[in-house]
Amino acid sequence: MQNNSNGIMLFKELVEVFEKLKKTQSRLEKTAIIADFIKNVPPDEMPVVVTFLIGRVFPLWDERKIGIAGQTIIKVISSITYNSESKVIESYKRTGHLGITAEEMFQRRRQAMFFEADELTVMDVNRTFAEIARQAGAGSAAKKQKLLIGLLHRATPKEAEYIVSLAIEYVLSGAKEGVMEEAIAKAFGVDVELVRRANMLTSDLGETARVAMLEGERGLKGISIRPMRPVRPMLAQNVASIQEALEVLGGRADFETKYDGARLQVHKLGDQVRLYSRRLENLTEALPEIVRYVKQSVKADSVILDCECIATDPKTGRPVPFQNILTRLRRIYKVEETEKLFPLFLRPFDILYVNGESMIDLPFIERRRILEQNIMPVDEKCKPATALITDKVEEAQELFDESIKRGNEGLMAKDLQATYTPGVRGRKMVKIKEVLDTLDLAIVSAEWGHGRKAGWLTSFEVAAYDEENDRYLVLGKVASGFSDEQLQEMTERLKPLIHAERGRVVDVKPDVIVEVKFQEIQKSPIYSSGYALRFPRLVRVRDDMSPEEVNTIGRVLNIYDISHGKPARHVGPQPDG
Ligand code: ATP
Repeated sequence: MQNNSNGIMLFKELVEVFEKLKKTQSRLEKTAIIADFIKNVPPDEMPVVVTFLIGRVFPLWDERKIGIAGQTIIKVISSITYNSESKVIESYKRTGHLGITAEEMFQRRRQAMFFEADELTVMDVNRTFAEIARQAGAGSAAKKQKLLIGLLHRATPKEAEYIVSLAIEYVLSGAKEGVMEEAIAKAFGVDVELVRRANMLTSDLGETARVAMLEGERGLKGISIRPMRPVRPMLAQNVASIQEALEVLGGRADFETKYDGARLQVHKLGDQVRLYSRRLENLTEALPEIVRYVKQSVKADSVILDCECIATDPKTGRPVPFQNILTRLRRIYKVEETEKLFPLFLRPFDILYVNGESMIDLPFIERRRILEQNIMPVDEKCKPATALITDKVEEAQELFDESIKRGNEGLMAKDLQATYTPGVRGRKMVKIKEVLDTLDLAIVSAEWGHGRKAGWLTSFEVAAYDEENDRYLVLGKVASGFSDEQLQEMTERLKPLIHAERGRVVDVKPDVIVEVKFQEIQKSPIYSSGYALRFPRLVRVRDDMSPEEVNTIGRVLNIYDISHGKPARHVGPQPDG
């Protein structure tokens, strides 16, 4: 390992690792490359190195943002390399990535000026990013720009590529979280499940790696949850019927209404309340009424609650799609107006932490009792999810029918003895829905429309994730199920993600996830997966999901096999619901 004279790691070391990762698609090789490298990282620098390696500037739980627009980066590259902005844009159109454009332009500058770069360290880059994130208020855009220019002035072309890639949080060879978890386990000889658990509890792989290095398995076991630090939610698998749910869960289970809203993790510490989405974004400011309900109904001094938040139409009392409320209505109306237009309700269904103690290792039935003890409903706004413990199909069926009648999605069923397993989609909690199969897929390319729709992207290629080879494989084109308004909105979302153009078709970074329903899956030579969805239609945009949660090809093959009367080839717990 090359360090500078003070023993601090050079940024070019990290760049070399990114370059090695770029050359392979094999998960095993990527894991080995990273494991080999992080073994020798100084412990104090580990959190930063690991966070950079997964393509992030700050850990997931950390709410700081770099906040530099693509346009600013173009200006910065132009000013440092003495190229006009239009030259930079021209290169960007060709490369499809601002980092690669930076490298290309820096390379030319170097040839022209015999430029010598300074020895940048990983911590230099980290400090400047932190400084950039700190800038706020009037004049902050110019200050951010100046800081980035200062950093890039010291960079070699390759370093510039990765500084820019990190600044836009789009590192082409960044490791997926799963790969990083395996690499940490391999590097420090610890159980990968313990690494995963620590990551799910803290959302901080860098800190997890540091603990694994210094304290091994004992240290990882000691990592716990704490209020104000969001935890990855426990997830559910699909089952086809109540009967199947009872079989999976040991004959007797807790059945609950599956509310059709958005998942919300509520943290309370003293009189401070914070709300996090399923992707761990802080939603506190967007939902002040929920903060109020929590303060009214939750007596404990500190808690973490897992909840569903439902928006309803006051005329019908039925749930309305929650995404609309957050992403659209909040922009148009003021918070107080949306409160009246679409009253919100909170339905806590699990408790993870109370007054200094973690609850996650208690059996569900205990947690439910503690949940009920800690919520004092003052009205309908906030009360524990409707629950029924039974071993009788008919009783659960009644609850299912009631749930559907009220506009909900179906039922959740929970293993009475199960602990809370953050981030795991296991069979300790299952869902029984009215509509069975949908897939959550990433949009990877789109096509411009014709005539009236000429300015909009109107048809979208959707893809599942191939875990083994770290790539997305296309399953079909979704062109129906969209209103004009949705097409317009989708175009706005996708435009900044475009990285290549082929005539009318544009390729986009797989950041927008859509839930797609379909009639069946067929074999087909047309798409890269070798399969095609028949009659795919949009159900909704999954703003609450991160790109890592896109359904895998394994799940697609399972649905194909089961619907063709064959046993699923991917046995054991399915990775996704
Ligand atoms: P889906 O698309 O079915 O909502 P998902 O991938 O968002 O699935 P899953 O874990 O598969 O999440 O399904 C459970 C989801 O159902 C939770 O994320 C939560 O938002 C919602 N939900 C509604 N009511 C309940 C409840 N009583 N208990 C647990 N989850 C509930």
